Amino acid sequence: MENNTHPKKPHAVLFPYPLQGHVIPSVPLAVKLASNGFTITFINTHFIHHQIKISQPNPTDNDDIFSEARKSGLDIRYQVIGDGFPLGFDRSLNHDLFWEVFPKVFPTHVEELLDDMVPSSEPPLTCLIADTFFTFFSMIAAKYNLVNISFWTEPALVLTLYYHMDLLKENGHFDSPDNRKDVITYIPGVPAIEPKDLMSYLQATDTSTTVHQILNKAFSDVKKSDFILINTVQELEPNTISALQEKQPTFAIGPIFPSGFSKSIVATNMWSESDCSQWLSTKRNGSVLYVSFGSYAHASKKDIEEIAYGLSLSKVNFIWVLRPDIVSSDETDILPVGFEDKIKGRGLIVTWCCQIEVLSHPAIGGFITHCGWNSILESIWCRIPLLAYPLLTDQFTNRKLVVDDWKIGINLVDNKPITREEVSEKINRLMGGKSRGELMKKIEEARNTLENALSHSGSSENNFSQFVSELKVKIE
Ligand code: UDP
Repeated sequence: MENNTHPKKPHAVLFPYPLQGHVIPSVPLAVKLASNGFTITFINTHFIHHQIKISQPNPTDNDDIFSEARKSGLDIRYQVIGDGFPLGFDRSLNHDLFWEVFPKVFPTHVEELLDDMVPSSEPPLTCLIADTFFTFFSMIAAKYNLVNISFWTEPALVLTLYYHMDLLKENGHFDSPDNRKDVITYIPGVPAIEPKDLMSYLQATDTSTTVHQILNKAFSDVKKSDFILINTVQELEPNTISALQEKQPTFAIGPIFPSGFSKSIVATNMWSESDCSQWLSTKRNGSVLYVSFGSYAHASKKDIEEIAYGLSLSKVNFIWVLRPDIVSSDETDILPVGFEDKIKGRGLIVTWCCQIEVLSHPAIGGFITHCGWNSILESIWCRIPLLAYPLLTDQFTNRKLVVDDWKIGINLVDNKPITREEVSEKINRLMGGKSRGELMKKIEEARNTLENALSHSGSSENNFSQFVSELKVKIE
């Protein structure tokens, strides 16, 4: 790249994956980079932009998610581009069609955007940051002569397992007519992992799906990136990260939270929030169980019913986030008849809330989670032990970290099918059983690990600075 006497101001175009759990950490990443002297152009799809807008209490046409950040002097620009479908298209209901078409049409939208941006950007565009699940950004980086940074929003363990899909195939643990069931001991940086703890897509027997095509392309593309940034902490996954670092420049810079871990200066929710604070303030400290399955996962009506009966039997206070699309069929009455009357006063059901605010409330004492990575990091930060109920994708692998490795949670279900008796028993064990003391000790340790990583000269701060200096060398 050209050599000026003045150091170039880095200007990165940032593409989050168009899913709630991926947009959420990408926004504070943009803020962190801008706070460190970067110009950022953040790209959302029209659909994500629209969802965020309509979920705000008072949307105004001139605002975008970075309006407040800009007022505090950060150079963050914001643009929206199409994802190949009209706004009214139901991406959740037509999930398969969306993910089949999106990777084919999105590169053209990206190229159109960059054809406009690259010649006229001031400061000139120097790098691109794209979610690792995209399949084509090495081609884009090469075409526009940009440094290519891959942003991974899940644990390093999940990244490394996808990264080594070829090894899993060679050894017959993945993509064979009858996948091996014995322990996997050959993945660099992963001493041992059972096949049941692999991500759901790597446990599948049908590997001809659209998702598998995306995974194959994405994890071959990431190998061509210049840097990998991971929303994790070096001390949480030291061996896995060291092994990845032998392959490519990899930086654990997490946890990436909105500033102050309070209601962020940017709003990223795609559903309207219910305010739970008043209700929570009527409850004893540590007495409320928070239940949420994130933004994306679906559960069966039967399982939702058993969880409802289990909550009812357990007698604990709870807040349950039940998204309207939690059950993938178009069933409307998913809760047992009379459930809401039965739990009156001790149970609050909402369609969405500000999770980080809820988890930060002193009344919260436990969390039934689907094991989404953002939820795990947020729960650790708030010292809330977990009941793990993974539903798909990386959640099975994240469960292993939470329950088996870090011991900050217990399984909601030991053997399927889920029953109301087991749900109730596990809830009581988490909220007040003998093992709670040990869980609280472990979660305190994990919280300290996160806090130390983010402190001045902590590992994540050091890694971030190291990344910025290596990047600057590359763009000079
Ligand atoms: N979340 C929220 N309100 C809710 C449920 C979830 O703000 O009612 C946020 C939560 O704080 C987290 C994200 O949505 O940051 C979910 O991400 P996660 O990785 O846990 O799961 P995913 O949605 O990707 O499956």
